[in-house]
Amino acid sequence: MKKHCKILATVGPACHSVERLKEMLQAGVNLFRLNFSHGDHAYHLESLEMIREASRQQGIYVGVLQDISGPKVRIGKLKKDVFLEIGDKIEFVREEIVGDFVEPHHLVVSLNHPELLDKLKPGELIYLYDGIICARVVETGEHIIAEVISGGMLSSRKGVNFPNTRLDLDVLTDKDRKDIAWGVEHGVDFMAISFVQKAEDMVRVRALVESLGGRQDLIAKIEKFDAVENIDAILEESDGLMVARGDLGIEIPYYRVPEVQKMLIRKANEAAKPVITATQMLLSMTHSERATRAEISDVANAVLDGSDALMLSEESAIGEYPVEAVATMSATIKEAEKVYPYFKIHEFAYNDEMDVIDESAVNLVENIEAEAILAITSSGQSARKLSRYRPRQPIYAVTHSEEIARKLTLVWGVIPAFRSKAESARKMMIDIIRRGLEEGILKKESNYVVTAGDPPGVPGTTNIIRILRHHELEHFAKLAREKRIPEDWE
Ligand code: ATP
Ligand code: MG
Ligand code: MG
Repeated sequence: MKKHCKILATVGPACHSVERLKEMLQAGVNLFRLNFSHGDHAYHLESLEMIREASRQQGIYVGVLQDISGPKVRIGKLKKDVFLEIGDKIEFVREEIVGDFVEPHHLVVSLNHPELLDKLKPGELIYLYDGIICARVVETGEHIIAEVISGGMLSSRKGVNFPNTRLDLDVLTDKDRKDIAWGVEHGVDFMAISFVQKAEDMVRVRALVESLGGRQDLIAKIEKFDAVENIDAILEESDGLMVARGDLGIEIPYYRVPEVQKMLIRKANEAAKPVITATQMLLSMTHSERATRAEISDVANAVLDGSDALMLSEESAIGEYPVEAVATMSATIKEAEKVYPYFKIHEFAYNDEMDVIDESAVNLVENIEAEAILAITSSGQSARKLSRYRPRQPIYAVTHSEEIARKLTLVWGVIPAFRSKAESARKMMIDIIRRGLEEGILKKESNYVVTAGDPPGVPGTTNIIRILRHHELEHFAKLAREKRIPEDWE
């Protein structure tokens, strides 16, 4: 049995070879992430070529997601690692300096975005180093002084979060613009945009991508408190979401992450847009052959929440057990899917007429006990909408373009099967039956539900639901065996 929920694995030194990537695909990876916070363009080009080669050798479509770093706020360099105690003062200065204690209990540091110092008000909190250290602003002005309320070790260039301060950071840095141009040039399928704060951020990124001639699907990484507040508008301007739990768990109280994860997933499901749950899913497998019970439980719950895909970060990028991590995730997904609440009929409001048609198709496939849905889709939209109703049966997507097929690798339950370029729905049907039988996707003794738009190639025009009975398949199989289906059979 194939799993419905997809796996997105981050590429890094631990899997930087075609062989290793192939093993990961065999273990259940559907798409790979290139994290532009690490590595240069030459490194990512190597990774991309290896992914394409592994995909060719495995004979499956494999999506590529480019993660754009975004305006991550960091402290500057420190002279040495320092230990901060409760009550210590941290002074943030505007100029770039090498940070150090100027007197006992008084650390001076710089920020990579000094303009942010103007936004802080007394009483607001500053978190450092993934939230380990927390300080409260006590003095504003030319320099900001904050008093440590929970201490710890701090080292150079660690991340800083301001969970109470609206920063209005530019969502794209100069580096991001260059990275996006690279992604368009090399035809990545998805771009994940970090530190999105409002819908306008996604609009601006899309304008940039389109001005470069790109058509990438844009995923908003939800990891800032203001993104959570503005989620409806952001979702409208995005092609999908990522629940980026790392920074999110600092920006909002950590104990709210599970509830926000469920809320984000529900909204994305409702909008028929893919949603990825990310960060620390199997973290202990970075250095251990086995995951903890809590991690396994987290993976299973993320599946049951409705995630389209789950992500591996350091587990696959720098871990000692990248293939085992994928296998563990895959096994856990399959087991969770034994108790999955499939068949979400009458659960969502209709956004358009296509929803009504796609819901009917899912209803039909369940009620006539068909083997699968075959979705003939030119934009991929119909496959995404079918997926929203979470059929138990696989959705085989037939598209005319490789680009659309790869974009569907992220969508729950959708298997991009093959491409067909036939110019009428009827010819496409014949083509699909022949190829489906040849490639072993269709079984002669089963029934299928086919959805299509006629004429083909017009996005958003599903107007055919066709039941493909086993006796028709047998008939076509016989014709094909006897080579009696002419190329242009009408
Ligand atoms: P993000 O916030 O975008 O997730 P991250 O720093 O957490 O960024 P991940 O991709 O989640 O990065 O990977 C986790 C860790 O693995 C990184 O912090 C880094 O130490 C390491 N890592 C990931 N990719 C690479 C790479 N290509 N080269 C070297 N180290 C890497
Ligand atoms: Mg991040
Ligand atoms: Mg990470």
